Amino acid sequence: MNYHQYDSPIFRMACQQFDQVADFMEIPEAARNRLKMPKRALSVAVPVRMDDGRTEVFMGHRVQHHLTLGPTKGGIRFHPDVTVGEVAALAMWMSWKCALVGLPYGGAKGGVACNPRELSLGELERLTRRYTQELIPVIGPQVDIPAPDVGTNEQVMAWIMDTYSLQMGYAVPGVVTGKPVLLGGSLGRREATGRGVAYLISRAMDTIGLVGSGATAVIQGYGNVGAVAAVSLAKQGIKIIAVSDAFGGIYNQKGLDLMKLDAYVAETRSVVGFSEADPISNEEMLILNCDILVPAALERQITEVNAAKLQCRILAEGANGPTTPEADAILTKRGDVMVIPDILCNSGGVIVSYFEWVQDLQSFFWSEGEVMDKLYRLLEQAFIQTLNLAKKKEVSLRFAALSLGIKRVHDAKVLRGLYP
Ligand code: NAD
Repeated sequence: MNYHQYDSPIFRMACQQFDQVADFMEIPEAARNRLKMPKRALSVAVPVRMDDGRTEVFMGHRVQHHLTLGPTKGGIRFHPDVTVGEVAALAMWMSWKCALVGLPYGGAKGGVACNPRELSLGELERLTRRYTQELIPVIGPQVDIPAPDVGTNEQVMAWIMDTYSLQMGYAVPGVVTGKPVLLGGSLGRREATGRGVAYLISRAMDTIGLVGSGATAVIQGYGNVGAVAAVSLAKQGIKIIAVSDAFGGIYNQKGLDLMKLDAYVAETRSVVGFSEADPISNEEMLILNCDILVPAALERQITEVNAAKLQCRILAEGANGPTTPEADAILTKRGDVMVIPDILCNSGGVIVSYFEWVQDLQSFFWSEGEVMDKLYRLLEQAFIQTLNLAKKKEVSLRFAALSLGIKRVHDAKVLRGLYP
């Protein structure tokens, strides 16, 4: 099949993963493209009045992967490399992820090709509002519900909610998740992905008999997911020996003082230059000797070049798509690294986004304890199901997780049938 406008390394990677699982599960050939190809994609030109008076046009996209189980759900990314192919791959992974953890959603993703760090606050707000305006025909609490991703945050979600609500004429908190608590956001949403990553790491440690106290972790990407995961791991007694961001990495074998590091990052907006650590490159960091490696930045970081050199015992994929299929094959063959696959590992974010949406629809809000309790219960269930299937079929955890997710979407499509 020709992938047309989605064709890109990352979309091909998502399709390759799907095809391998479809072969294994013997999904009929006729059903495959229907499962794989995104239902809808909207690409929009987003004109923005810049502070210097110029009008700059940015390209924005939103891809909705399938509509079989409910509205679609997925983050919005502001990053210079955003393309419709990347967005489509991320939307597909969201579908398998939602199905794996039992949420009544299809996957979606959106993004604008821009560098948010180079925009003033006013420019960022105008870009967000215009992009939202262009998406109004395809988003809504019963249609498609965006959330934060790389380069977007609670403030961006608040602007999306406001723009949509102004068009409707009344407040519609359920149109986005990951918004501020005051506007109908959920307690625990901001921390959900990182805490979920740490929870699953502790379950993986139990599985392979690794003890928390004294264990070491390396985290690539010190943003929302990476920084929260770091704090949660440190609370389990794990030493964070290296972290990085888009500007570089830092390393201290004795363990980084995260309180001091967070204060430093709040001031400088980067980990680079932190005085109590040495600089380290991205390449070196990924192959450091450690117990736990958490890629929590972008896709395609663990590749055929470095997979054989990884020295960790657990690879916890906080990011979406950090491991290429070639690297995955190397790791599966090695058999000494437990890979917690992305669609399971970072699913805490969409789980609490789902809780936020449910709370918004009911206008009835839960305590943080209730949110976390429900989150860990869903994660535990998905972890056990994935582990059991992997053991039973003698496949990797990624294969098992994808199989569970893809099978549920396939079964739902069979039950609904094909119209007309
Ligand atoms: P973020 O923008 O808050 O943080 C991303 C971090 O990665 C930043 O510190 C950035 O500087 C860093 N980074 C970018 N390029 C890098 C590089 N080449 N090397 C090292 N660091 C680099 O984004 P986030 O929300 O934390 O998302 C991170 C990953 O987690 C993405 O893959 C995203 O899709 C995934 N994810 C996020 C959520 C969520 O709730 N935010 C949920 C599920 C999955």
